[in-house]
Amino acid sequence: MDPPVIRLAHCQVQVFCLQVPGACPSCGEDLRERRLQEAPVSLPSPFSNAHKTSCCLLVAPAHNNTTSEFDGTSDLHTGISNTEGVVYNYTRAGVVRELSGWERCVSVPLVRPDMFHLLNQWDQYLQNHSEGPSWDPTWHRFDEQHHNCLSFCLSFVNRVLAAEGREALSRETFTQIFILPRVQRVQKYLFLYKHLQTHQYYLVDREEDREEDTQEGI
Ligand SMILES: [Zn+2]
Repeated sequence: MDPPVIRLAHCQVQVFCLQVPGACPSCGEDLRERRLQEAPVSLPSPFSNAHKTSCCLLVAPAHNNTTSEFDGTSDLHTGISNTEGVVYNYTRAGVVRELSGWERCVSVPLVRPDMFHLLNQWDQYLQNHSEGPSWDPTWHRFDEQHHNCLSFCLSFVNRVLAAEGREALSRETFTQIFILPRVQRVQKYLFLYKHLQTHQYYLVDREEDREEDTQEGI
């Protein structure tokens, strides 16, 4: 497990780091002697283990999920988990059900925990959907652009929405709402992480709370 990113505030800056430094990298003040205005916090990792999720849309880098990254260049692969963390995903070989390989991905919950009627039927819906002729390689061919893993997830979500009497989502809306914001968050997090591994700190100016900080010394 990677150590978490820590955020702390001192003088005019917010400091992002992997280890709390002995001295403030901005003003040089010893941090061991002076109490920080607020306790350092660990940023939550944007990654989840899909096999510990239930009823989520999952996004991971395509091919070899453990080593490729969300770096904006590799293709992404999507799937949907059942209530037991089994990931259903559509590939050239048809729908596969995976119990491993999705340990580091982005998860988007699709069902509120109080929607019991939907939770009860989810696994059956997902199983039925995955057995449809659209995903059977003998009937339909996988197409990188138009009939791919995302098509499988979107049509499943739309099937659930229809069962709930709700309107279907377009591919654009689905991507904009469910996928892009989370993937962008992961990219930012990874960018920060890589920076911290080589540069130790990342400093951001704190515009607010200036007055409190100037209580002493001036
Ligand atoms: Zn400082």
